[in-house]
Amino acid sequence: MKIETIAIHAGNHTDASSKAVVQPIVMSTTFERDEDGGFSSGYSYSRAANPNRTSLENVLAKLEGGAEAAAFSSGNAAGMSVFQSLAPGTHIICPDDMYHGLRNQLKMLFEGILEFDFIDVNNSDVLTEHIKPNTGVIWIETPSNPLLKITDIKKVVSVARQHHIKVVCDNTFATPLCQQPLALGADMVMHSSTKYFGGHSDLMGGALITTEKSDWWEKIRNVQTMGGAVPSPMDCYYLVRSIKTLPYRVRGHVSNAQLLAQFLESHPRVESVMYPGLSSHPQHAIARAQMSGFGAMLSFTLKGGEDEAKKVVNAIRVFARATSLGGVESLMEHRATVEGPDTKTPFNLLRVSVGLEHIDDLIADLEQAMAK
Ligand SMILES: *Cc1c(COP(=O)(O)O)cnc(C)c1O
Repeated sequence: MKIETIAIHAGNHTDASSKAVVQPIVMSTTFERDEDGGFSSGYSYSRAANPNRTSLENVLAKLEGGAEAAAFSSGNAAGMSVFQSLAPGTHIICPDDMYHGLRNQLKMLFEGILEFDFIDVNNSDVLTEHIKPNTGVIWIETPSNPLLKITDIKKVVSVARQHHIKVVCDNTFATPLCQQPLALGADMVMHSSTKYFGGHSDLMGGALITTEKSDWWEKIRNVQTMGGAVPSPMDCYYLVRSIKTLPYRVRGHVSNAQLLAQFLESHPRVESVMYPGLSSHPQHAIARAQMSGFGAMLSFTLKGGEDEAKKVVNAIRVFARATSLGGVESLMEHRATVEGPDTKTPFNLLRVSVGLEHIDDLIADLEQAMAK
């Protein structure tokens, strides 16, 4: 089936007793045992599994073309479960511009437990140089945050395979509508469901999707069940509901982003625009080869430095001045401020999550903000 049909049906089933077309929310934390002590329903206690979580995991697995998915209480919880599943002393290779929340998690919570390097994973020589006998995982994130750099997934996978290393891809920015890393050879996909899957900036969630049900996957499942970083039945319900419109939302987000990027590129006050859908993007060719859409995140820098950037972000009206991404409302932020003192982000850079408002209104808002 096509992805629009999967999005609507794979996370839902008609309730057997009430015949409700939309699957009800099961709030019960506990489930009755059979007389012989078994659990024929498959459910015993909600930290292990819940019917709404099962439905969410079904649709997530199908959207990414994986064997199974695990739904978490946040994207960071999903990432943390991967790290916690690795044997102590395992070496992880991460991109030098890894999502700062996960980079900080590794640095602050896994120092002395795991080994990690933050490098330019897209440079095969640099990547190969950093592989050690204890390297277990190469972590990639493409497009990256906030510079929208593209990592060639197939290229990283081919290096990883030679050394029997697993590849995990953070696919949050792209969504499965624009990019399917498992089909390109990655072993696992990670998502912050807080972003496009939720789509309305009103819930937190995370996900992992695996190509195969391996021993490693079982370990991750155990980390989840024992660690308890599970989403509530309500959050699972809202995610399943939002995912039904994901394909159409993403199409709208992407088409607005392309037009906004083109507008910005032609504006005299703009120094540079980072968007993989522009032919000026240094890795546009790789993006075209591995993506079926270029996503809806973009960054741009202003001539005149930090003050000019801050003036623009303070003059916008339709965009909200806020972090995060993937919601229907457009957001803009001065990224260096968000990332804090050790940021490598240019101080004249603004990051934009392009929403679903009419493109004319978004362009008009930026036009008035940059006229000031
Ligand atoms: C937001 C985000 C995360 C973290 O997800 P949370 O749901 O905030 O925990 C990880 N990776 C990327 C690319 C993100 O944008």
